[in-house]
Amino acid sequence: ADIGSQKDRVVTEEEWLQKWEMGNIGFHKEQGHPLLRKYLDVLLSGRSGLRIFFPLCGKAVEMKWLADMGHSVVGVEVSEQALKEFFSEHSLPYCEEPVPEISGAKKLQSTSGNISLYCCSIYDLSSSIVGKFDGVWDRGALVAVNPCDRQRYVSLMITLMEKNSAYLLVTVSYDPNKHKGPPFYVPEPEIKSLFG
Ligand code: SAH
Repeated sequence: ADIGSQKDRVVTEEEWLQKWEMGNIGFHKEQGHPLLRKYLDVLLSGRSGLRIFFPLCGKAVEMKWLADMGHSVVGVEVSEQALKEFFSEHSLPYCEEPVPEISGAKKLQSTSGNISLYCCSIYDLSSSIVGKFDGVWDRGALVAVNPCDRQRYVSLMITLMEKNSAYLLVTVSYDPNKHKGPPFYVPEPEIKSLFG
């Protein structure tokens, strides 16, 4: 397939914010993802109390699900509206604080303390700010990243992973000539070369 048709496409942060404002969030699912259910054991390998990262988290309901299982969840999302909707839709009280290392960023944290959501670009994060993670749930994240930023995104994700961590990645298979994305088409050989 001619994936060249997507490689120069860019969706700006402003456009993502607009999608949230307009309610154009067809990517959001009310039900937990069946593939997370199916591969949960791969993510956890029997361990409890893990730190799980949700890149480009939106208001993914799986964050609540993993937190309820006793894990601690960290997400990052440019849309503050998305994060506030997450807490309000699950009736979770939260507090807000600035992130000293990142100008303009905020951290929204559940009062119970086990869900921390950063409102900023993922490219502003580093392991010195958020620490490292035992598991990553990447659904609608790599495939939402602009094709020109993929390498940067993956390099950053690798720096955020503990030695024995598991990374679950959901991709979408389709003819990239028929849909301009996002989600973008990320061919399997590219995934292999990105993650090495
Ligand atoms: N993972 C979520 C949302 C997928 S849609 C889910 O499963 O529902 C991609 C999300 O990434 C959007 O909510 C968009 O606002 C956010 N986003 C896009 N670029 C971003 C960036 N550079 N940093 C953080 N969030 C970003």
